[in-house]
Amino acid sequence: MREVDTDTEVSHSFKIMSAILQDPVALEKEDISSPPQAQTAQLADALALNDSAGPPLGYSGIEEHSTPAHAFLEHSSSILFPVLFVPNVYFSFYRLYDLELLWLAALSIPLALVLGDFVGGLVHWAADTYFSEDTPVVGAALIKPFRQHHLFPRDICTHTFVSIVGNVCILAVPVLALCLYLLWVTQHGLLAFAILCTALMAAATVGTNIFHKWAHQEKPAAGVRWLQRMRLVLEPRHHEVHHTEPFEMHYCITNGWLNPLLNKIGFFRKLEASLRFLGVETTKAQK
Ligand SMILES: [Zn+2]
Ligand SMILES: [Zn+2]
Repeated sequence: MREVDTDTEVSHSFKIMSAILQDPVALEKEDISSPPQAQTAQLADALALNDSAGPPLGYSGIEEHSTPAHAFLEHSSSILFPVLFVPNVYFSFYRLYDLELLWLAALSIPLALVLGDFVGGLVHWAADTYFSEDTPVVGAALIKPFRQHHLFPRDICTHTFVSIVGNVCILAVPVLALCLYLLWVTQHGLLAFAILCTALMAAATVGTNIFHKWAHQEKPAAGVRWLQRMRLVLEPRHHEVHHTEPFEMHYCITNGWLNPLLNKIGFFRKLEASLRFLGVETTKAQK
């Protein structure tokens, strides 16, 4: 382990955390010399001086494996996803080209990225805010990974590609199969547009956990850092706000484009208030 000036580095890390607490959104505009992962690493190093025996900060040190049945579903869906995605995009694009509606095809890309960010954020918020790890069906597969991620944010960096994209592929494959069937039986231009948006949105949501993993990596590849800087995928400092008290912001983790708007209008707090009015109480994630 490298030597660190413990007092200076801990104080630097806490200064940044304090800034996040006071004004998390404004922090995005600041020029902080080291990225948050580096700040976390500095803090981890400093704290590890007192506890060098356990796993590094952010890692649980525990390897989790899917059940054989779930692993089969994850693998088969991960293979089926591109098999269904490509013809959906090809035939819907070709239909729009045929109808001289290519401008709709161009519109579908940003629309799908925004929709993917929103749908992913909504699922993330629901998993952080409602249900529990013991809830039947969704508890182990959906709620637990989200909540464990708050306790051990860097565990995602140790997960395999299939375990990262598999769950979303399981949900996306039936949707893409239905879209392909609809393309086969109808000729409508607007339907082709809707299907192109749906297919691209499905790809964005499948990519979400990959982008999320990149945001937690200590040393992402140069190409990934470029995508993050361009804000085409989730940017680490932007995502750090979600992992900072009160842990109730920045749920969108595809590219995070919608987070400033949703924060500004208090979207998720209003949604929680509406559900509370209907008698649905939050269970709030473990922090
Ligand atoms: Zn979360
Ligand atoms: Zn995260």
